[in-house]
Amino acid sequence: MSAEKNNTYQKGPNRSRNTARGQGQGNSHRPNRYSKNQGNRSNRNQPVEVKIGQKFPLTIKRLGINGEGIGYFKRKIVFIPGALPGEVVTAKVTDFTDKYIEAKVVTIREESQDRVTPEDPAADLVGGFELAHLSYPAQLAFKKDLIVQALEKFQPKGFDHYQINDTIGMDVPYHYRNKASLPIRKIKGEVKLGLYKRGTHDIVDLPTIATQDETSMAIVRQVGQILSDASVSFYNEAKNTGLVKTIIVRANQEGQAQLVLVTNVEEFPGRLAVIDALTEKIPALTGIFQNINFGKTSLIWGDETIKLWGDDYLHEEILGLNFAFSPRAFLQLNHEQMTKTYEIAIKALDLNKEDTLVDAYSGVGTLGLSMAFLVKEVRGMEVIPEAVADARLNAEENGIENAFYEVGTAEKVFPKWAKEGFAPTAVVVDPPRPGLDDAFKRALLKTKPKKLVYISCNPSTLARDLADLDAAYQVDFIQPIDMFPQTPRWEGVVKLSLK
Ligand code: SAH
Repeated sequence: MSAEKNNTYQKGPNRSRNTARGQGQGNSHRPNRYSKNQGNRSNRNQPVEVKIGQKFPLTIKRLGINGEGIGYFKRKIVFIPGALPGEVVTAKVTDFTDKYIEAKVVTIREESQDRVTPEDPAADLVGGFELAHLSYPAQLAFKKDLIVQALEKFQPKGFDHYQINDTIGMDVPYHYRNKASLPIRKIKGEVKLGLYKRGTHDIVDLPTIATQDETSMAIVRQVGQILSDASVSFYNEAKNTGLVKTIIVRANQEGQAQLVLVTNVEEFPGRLAVIDALTEKIPALTGIFQNINFGKTSLIWGDETIKLWGDDYLHEEILGLNFAFSPRAFLQLNHEQMTKTYEIAIKALDLNKEDTLVDAYSGVGTLGLSMAFLVKEVRGMEVIPEAVADARLNAEENGIENAFYEVGTAEKVFPKWAKEGFAPTAVVVDPPRPGLDDAFKRALLKTKPKKLVYISCNPSTLARDLADLDAAYQVDFIQPIDMFPQTPRWEGVVKLSLK
């Protein structure tokens, strides 16, 4: 959706404009797909069978991990975005290697019964709507199938008997994103604020986005208008001139919002007048920040963030606790589905006052602190120092005295604690896409906490990790949750227990 890269402590894939190729480490069920020069040696000298622009009929067999249709042409795999299983389409080759063909749909000859008209008129143009043409029940089935496919690939012990629940969806699978992060440019005198047209750096101006919540969307647009009225300059990529690159608005459930203006340079002419206008016209704002991100880069955030006005934090209530989020702190984009995820994880851990809980990959402590009142002690670790500071503050603000957060990686801190004699009875892990580090898995297998819950955003690394953890753990259930409707992004909770 946004062009966000993981240079912040965000969870989730790189939402770069090259969504289809932006998949992180360990995510591919088909290694080499995107590494164009790593052709299979035996294939290398085979004549190329297709040409760019060539058209052929294609039957779609299934959906790939990025939501694209998959078919076969002369036994070569074809990736074709926008086509659905069961459909017969006329495909046109857009690119190929000796391993695969990429194509686009010219016409649909036989249409799937699951095909729907996307809710957003720009769904075919921009990223973030890869599944919008698929009926919602079929999207949920696809997300269950993603984990099944990943398990078949990595084959953890007993995987064919795993309890894999149906994906938990949303009643209304739209308007769920609480954060909008939209690039702004002036093209031929016209301000464009929206999303990149797929595969380009051209911005499609979007007054609304069907997956974005109304508050953050409306505020982003208002901010764009105010900046434009104040003659603030917008970034020009070709010339590397102009000031504001991206407008980021994060809204909470109460309709308050935190604004970050990502700029190309620090100097911000007319800053005070702009702040006045913003605060006067947008009463929902709690804080305004400037993040400086020099020059041409695919990263959204630069290293330095300056507060221009207001509160340091945006507050959000999660499961009855009040959490503070600094601009770069990770907060799940979908409040409703995040709450369900946490509730499932908490229930699966089945905690009691004797338990000592580790909240690994803790972010600002949302998960661990939600469980602090159930257990004797919580310890969490997280690599980003600012997030750990936020977690400590969140513990304090909620009057929690039995939770301790430390800066460091799970793979370093967990074994260190074990060495010091700390043997937790329960562990919740919530890693980013690359999944668990080997050293952390070894330490888990050695320490053997009785209760283990794994929250994952990547079925592939999850399946790989389950195959490593099967030495001591069995899987009680896997619960996929649709955190990102209309996109192929996956989220799920796994309950494990010691064999
Ligand atoms: N549990 C939190 C955050 C999950 S996002 C929540 O639900 O909000 C994953 C977090 O893991 C990020 O904050 C990221 O900074 C952190 N992280 C990434 N690699 C890590 C590692 N090796 N060890 C510990 N934390 C890590």
